[in-house]
Amino acid sequence: MDTLPAYERDPYATALETRVLRTGAEQGRPFAILEDTILYPEGGGQPADRGTLNGTAVVDVQKRDGEIRHYLAAPVVEGPASLELDWPRRFDHMQQHTGQHLLTAVAQDRFQWETTAFHLGASICDIELSASSMSLRDMEQLEEKVADEIRAHREISARRVSPEAYKLEAVRSRGLPEGHTGDIRLIQIAGVDLNTCGGTHLRHTGEIEALKLLGTESIRGGTRLFYVAGRRARLRLDAHERRTAGLRALLGAPDEDLVSVLQGKLDQLQTAERRARKLEEELAEMQASALALRPEALVEAHFEDRDMAFLQKLARQVLAADPGKAVFLTAAAGGQGLFLLSAGEACGLDVPALGKAVAAILGAKGGGSGRTFQGKAPDLKARAGALARLREG
Ligand SMILES: [Zn+2]
Repeated sequence: MDTLPAYERDPYATALETRVLRTGAEQGRPFAILEDTILYPEGGGQPADRGTLNGTAVVDVQKRDGEIRHYLAAPVVEGPASLELDWPRRFDHMQQHTGQHLLTAVAQDRFQWETTAFHLGASICDIELSASSMSLRDMEQLEEKVADEIRAHREISARRVSPEAYKLEAVRSRGLPEGHTGDIRLIQIAGVDLNTCGGTHLRHTGEIEALKLLGTESIRGGTRLFYVAGRRARLRLDAHERRTAGLRALLGAPDEDLVSVLQGKLDQLQTAERRARKLEEELAEMQASALALRPEALVEAHFEDRDMAFLQKLARQVLAADPGKAVFLTAAAGGQGLFLLSAGEACGLDVPALGKAVAAILGAKGGGSGRTFQGKAPDLKARAGALARLREG
């Protein structure tokens, strides 16, 4: 076997005939060590590849103690092995990762912003830059310059150099991993960048297709810059188009008016809600006045589509008007039943005991203390029975 793994010799190889040299399990996860591999192990901000080994899913790939462990969905046996790479996923990583090299180089050369971190996320990526702030104009210029370099179709190449030769190379400042020994891998974007990296890269900048900056966020004295590259940029645009088409259909407005039309609708909704609350309060007052005038000592009433707050408000108003009364109020709300039993200050009803009895009859959960008991029931089918029990006292 060549000393370099196949993913480094040819990052475009999607299938490999090799051998399983050894198998094992790490905390119950089966893994295999192969003679050679096209699956990239997680490192340098680039996620681990996925694929299959003799048809079994490779769920993770990690470097451990100088060897590459392929973690598997199920154990495999030693011997000949057909390895296949999940290529669309890997190519996406190559587009994001190579895009990051270019973005980092342009940010430093044009703006003197140094890249301090890189995250390749499942949907978007970001780099952290030593920029105390970044204006929209800065972002536009950065994105345009990156687009220039993509169109320039610059060749990208990888080579290994000895530690001695490395010292003579004009490498962009980026330290080697701690404890690094042996040759150092350099990635060159012709005319733009020379940097150390162990990841997988595209053949030329044209394959990045496009790199779109999405926004920034202040972080630890620097700026986090979000972006997507390649097919992701097209998929993201596609999602935006579908969402916008949905909004156009809902709001009946062209793209440029969507925000103002929606703002208008939200303002209307707020006004309508305020009005509905006021009307509900007025209605509660009228209903409370009518209930307080009833001759019976235990006033009962049922309401459709009202919440517990409405029942409480009504009870307070009735009992304030006539403290000698008690109320038994129910409401249907959201597919369930609500009930409230409450007694005025001059009423001798044993609310805690009767509340429990009513809850049991209704099959309800509830509680209370002193003069009020309230609860929720799956339905109010036993309401007449509960009322009869209350009238017994
Ligand atoms: Zn790289």
